[in-house]
Amino acid sequence: MGNIRVLVVEDEIAIQDMLVFNLSRAGYEVLPVGSGREARSSIVDKYPDVVLMDWMLPDVSGLELMRQLKRDPDTREIPIIMLTARVAEDDRVAGLDGGADDYITKPFSPRELLARIKVVLRRGLIVADEIVTAGGLNMDTGSHRVTVNKKEILLGPTEYKLLNFFMRHQDRVYSRGQLLDRIWGGTVYVEDRTVDVHIRRLRKALTPHSCDKLVQTVRGVGYRFSCREV
Ligand code: CA
Repeated sequence: MGNIRVLVVEDEIAIQDMLVFNLSRAGYEVLPVGSGREARSSIVDKYPDVVLMDWMLPDVSGLELMRQLKRDPDTREIPIIMLTARVAEDDRVAGLDGGADDYITKPFSPRELLARIKVVLRRGLIVADEIVTAGGLNMDTGSHRVTVNKKEILLGPTEYKLLNFFMRHQDRVYSRGQLLDRIWGGTVYVEDRTVDVHIRRLRKALTPHSCDKLVQTVRGVGYRFSCREV
């Protein structure tokens, strides 16, 4: 995986600059945007690991955008920390009720923000420690074991990540570029062909268990994981 990506949605330039400076210095890859519209396209294209979302944006309420992201099965796993100048207690409750993973009131110290980010990322890892099943495959994300009919399938780390992503996003087609972004992260330079190589390895590992047909090629578009026959 590449670096941890933080999407900063903040229209106030001074705060945006402060966040970019502190997050970059802490080793995060930072994607700064100033509107809800840019935030939406960044989330689709770059799939950040965590989102810092200002409450008051020029084009949309950050709270509403956060709710939309938490309703969408494709984005709801991304932790969101709301940034706000409001201090009223009921606002805090409204933020968390809408699905925000945390909430921080301006002005805040960079150190406090970094600590909050670590907490939501860690929580994400704990949530990910579970059993995922699809098409007869059983993935234990705690022990990193994949089995079918109790027989273990041995996978390389990249094939494991690919399969994990696919099992969580069934019946959707992903282009090579999208898979590169989500599996490898944006900071490493990898060619599109690399995706094909790992798809081939994944299918090869699944073949003895007759599960290779789960990984489907969609001509001219990319790949899809589906339990339905083509
Ligand atoms: Ca604002």
